[in-house]
Amino acid sequence: MSRSGGDGTGLVVSGSTGDAWELVIGLEVHCELATATKLFCACPNRFGDEPNTNVCPVCLGLPGSLPVLNKAAVELALRIGRALGCTVRPGVFARKNYFYPDMPKDYQISQYDQPTNVDGWLGLPDGSRVGIERAHIEEDTGKNTHAGDTGRIHGSDYSLIDYNRAGVPLVEIVGRPDIATGDQAKAFVSELRKILLATGASDAKMEEGSLRVDANVSVRRPGAGLGTRCEIKNLNSLRSLGRAIDHEARRQIELIEAGDRVTQQTRHWDEEGGCTRPGRSKEEAEDYRYFQEPDLVPLAPSAEWVKDIDEALPTLPAKRRSALGAAAGMADTHAGVVIAVDRDLDALGLAAIQAGGDPARVLTHIEHNLAVEGADALEPEKLADLVKLELEGKLTATQAKVVLAEMVATGTAPAEIAAARGFEAMATSALEATVDEVIGSEQAEWDELVRAPEDDKRIKKLNGFFTGKIMKASRGQADGKAVNALLVQRRSAARVERGLD
Ligand code: ADP
Ligand code: MG
Ligand code: ZN
Repeated sequence: MSRSGGDGTGLVVSGSTGDAWELVIGLEVHCELATATKLFCACPNRFGDEPNTNVCPVCLGLPGSLPVLNKAAVELALRIGRALGCTVRPGVFARKNYFYPDMPKDYQISQYDQPTNVDGWLGLPDGSRVGIERAHIEEDTGKNTHAGDTGRIHGSDYSLIDYNRAGVPLVEIVGRPDIATGDQAKAFVSELRKILLATGASDAKMEEGSLRVDANVSVRRPGAGLGTRCEIKNLNSLRSLGRAIDHEARRQIELIEAGDRVTQQTRHWDEEGGCTRPGRSKEEAEDYRYFQEPDLVPLAPSAEWVKDIDEALPTLPAKRRSALGAAAGMADTHAGVVIAVDRDLDALGLAAIQAGGDPARVLTHIEHNLAVEGADALEPEKLADLVKLELEGKLTATQAKVVLAEMVATGTAPAEIAAARGFEAMATSALEATVDEVIGSEQAEWDELVRAPEDDKRIKKLNGFFTGKIMKASRGQADGKAVNALLVQRRSAARVERGLD
């Protein structure tokens, strides 16, 4: 079986039958909100503390305790909703009843059939859009650690439970099944992560579990209706997400082609084994006995609150990419544009371009030479000036890189740094003189180079010989490309003169 790879259609061609299959993927993403305290009590919301130190009667579910909704959590949930283009509606909290050791109350408070944020979308850098069904508020559970070989509750020797996470505010973002490839799924999570960071809603660390992804995967023949899906739980890196989707799709295709059918179930990704394994089957589905949480009133954010949220939203990454792309005359997907926004250097890039800096060179510096601390403090006019010096041939690319590093460190103007380092790239006339001088003093080699036919192996070697001599004569100030161009030009002139061409 092989993937068609990178064309965005998500078509997979079966190795055994040659048939084409489509992948259908819908993601459910949990993110922990970056509040100071938990969702319904005043316990600190902090990762990495000593286990069971951030707990109280409310988040331990002791009888008689009452939840009080944290306004800061709602604020962040609304930011997420509005950044994803959702409509804000009155939300109702419900109790989702089930027994599990990480749930001290034996129920989780979650928005169920009336979530706060509904019907949004997320634009991906490739131009596609993925629908968002809902982004609802709920509380996190505690954290189980199962000791034993499996790492799961089944077959474990004993389990440790940390309730510090119980009651931490979460927003669950439920995406529509609009995703067609593992790469697109990764792009979705990566873009969502940028939005969560930009809005300050979450620190969105997959490795610490403040961003957790479940992937629903099904396959179908092109044009057919939706197939039966499996849900792969708790993928904790982008790499695992992509791999898990590819392996799960392959498993389902092989199953169907062998005459079997896919059973709707929860599966887990086994990173070492490189495969998904069954968890509980949805056919023996839990009955959560949802009912409205009697201790909380419905949450109805006012129109003014939503308006304030909208006005305070930062410019989102997609818009920043298109602004920089437009100014540079490049696609939003150009690597330099994407990286500039990722590193918060797009304002610098924009201003440098507006100050007359050549866009391609400005973006090249941002992409390759500015992944350093203090880069954002660089004055855009000075970056533009540096690029102008390069374009005028006064600095080679290598020299420009050195000058730029010093600009970041000291804030000094590029011309000044270049002069202090004795860096002026040679003016063309000076370079020509040096080239001719070296040719004149190495007559035998030059003769050999001129006579050598075009496909002769010696040409490369002799060119290297001359370039080295010229570089040395210019004390490293000549631009390698310019030297090479001059050598080619002098050689063909000599061949014409000698009647060889
Ligand atoms: P549940 O409530 O059982 O989790 P939902 O219908 O709300 O089920 O869907 C949950 C997630 O599954 C959503 O992200 C949705 O996009 C995705 N999904 C639904 N049907 C499919 C399918 N056939 N293939 C892949 N993903 C799907
Ligand atoms: Mg679900
Ligand atoms: Zn508490």
